[in-house]
Amino acid sequence: MSQVKLEDIVSLAKRRGFVFQASEIYGGLAGFYDYGPLGVELVNNLKQEWWKAMVREHDNIFGVDSAIIQNPKLWEASGHVGGFTDPLVEDTVTHKRYRADHLAGVDSNDLKELTKLLKDKKSPDGNPLSEPRVFNMMMKTYVGPVEDSESTAYLRPETAGPMFTNYENVRETMRAKLPFGVAQIGKAFRNEISPRDFIFRVRELEQMEMQYFIRPAEQEKTYEEWRDFAWKFLTERLGIDEKNLEWHEHDAKERAHYAAAAHDIYFKFPQGFKELWGTHNRTDYDLGAHQKASGKDLQYFDDQSQERFTPYVIESSVGVGRMLMAVLTDAYHEEEINGETRVVLKLKPDLAPYRVAVSPLLKNKPELAKKAREVYDALKKEFGNVMWDDNGNIGKRYRRQDEIGTPYCVVIDFGTLEDDTVTVRDRDTTKQTRVAIANLPSKLN
Ligand code: ATP
Repeated sequence: MSQVKLEDIVSLAKRRGFVFQASEIYGGLAGFYDYGPLGVELVNNLKQEWWKAMVREHDNIFGVDSAIIQNPKLWEASGHVGGFTDPLVEDTVTHKRYRADHLAGVDSNDLKELTKLLKDKKSPDGNPLSEPRVFNMMMKTYVGPVEDSESTAYLRPETAGPMFTNYENVRETMRAKLPFGVAQIGKAFRNEISPRDFIFRVRELEQMEMQYFIRPAEQEKTYEEWRDFAWKFLTERLGIDEKNLEWHEHDAKERAHYAAAAHDIYFKFPQGFKELWGTHNRTDYDLGAHQKASGKDLQYFDDQSQERFTPYVIESSVGVGRMLMAVLTDAYHEEEINGETRVVLKLKPDLAPYRVAVSPLLKNKPELAKKAREVYDALKKEFGNVMWDDNGNIGKRYRRQDEIGTPYCVVIDFGTLEDDTVTVRDRDTTKQTRVAIANLPSKLN
């Protein structure tokens, strides 16, 4: 189908309760969003799928859930206080700020290069631009009653940091041997210069990250394995079309301060191919830096080689919001059916907010409503995420369920009262079949 437009996704998300602007009644706040009733279901399904694939299906990957605010020394040692920056330029008239690399159309943090490229450029409002300068994206707060430099702390800019500082705790408590991983799902905060493109670039984000601790000699092989994992997860477990994905390798100018190699999977978002999931070789940068700053020994003693060394780390990192946006974009279809256009979300059944909607054919016939309630209660026990829908005519109900990606609709009619069969309507084919109530759990699974 033709390229999905950003306004289609934003409008569907709002109309059907996936995503709302945060503090909407006060005019919102740039870079902050709330998930609505359907969004939270879809997000939970995505997180569960990732947790299953990452933690539950690996004997040697362990989960943690660490505090958002840590000792600021962690972020000094990791290099974020000094180096977690983006290049910024300002419109000299409106004082609006922009990412210099985005205006210059390059993936680079190099101020000299950006100054050259932006020399004759104007801001999007047509005004002269300031010189590019670096801007630190760490969000600050104060801990305790006094607001001074001693009490300054940071909201974590990525979930990775506390996984490194917990490396030794996890290794010891789980009696883990290399290679092993630590995984976490959680919020991170970045004071992005220009949040935009809906939930693609926000200031409060959620990440799913895994740090895999390895012997240095294993870095190339392991790096390939985790790249492969990310691709397979998106295509096989989330069902994203491979045509909407591509690899992007970072060159030296683009790489984060800690990374020796970085490959992103780009997804074809409505605004073009952009980063969705990063795999990074962080080498021994983090454990080495924390070892130096804390004075704690974070070396590993290898029984095999009888050597002590600082483990290397391969990181797998993806944003939950970007994954949600990718899944919505990939699943969004507009189709012509019997001369009418329908919007349908072709989500994998396991990801859909509701697996099935149950309806009595006519709302005002008590015998149909009673029977439909029985079927609804039984399916609710079986699947949990079942919707009751008796609003409007049956055609309208189907359209509504199509838009939120419900794979099946079950309709109870007068025939049901005679032979205990119901109509099951399939979201993707729109075909209707007659199924015995007793066979519904296996049919809808
Ligand atoms: P970008 O280049 O888009 O700013 P990044 O390279 O800084 O992203 P990482 O630090 O590698 O991103 O973060 C890992 C993942 O977290 C990204 O692949 C993305 O999915 C997500 N992410 C990062 N920044 C944001 C943001 N501001 N809003 C939403 N998701 C984000």
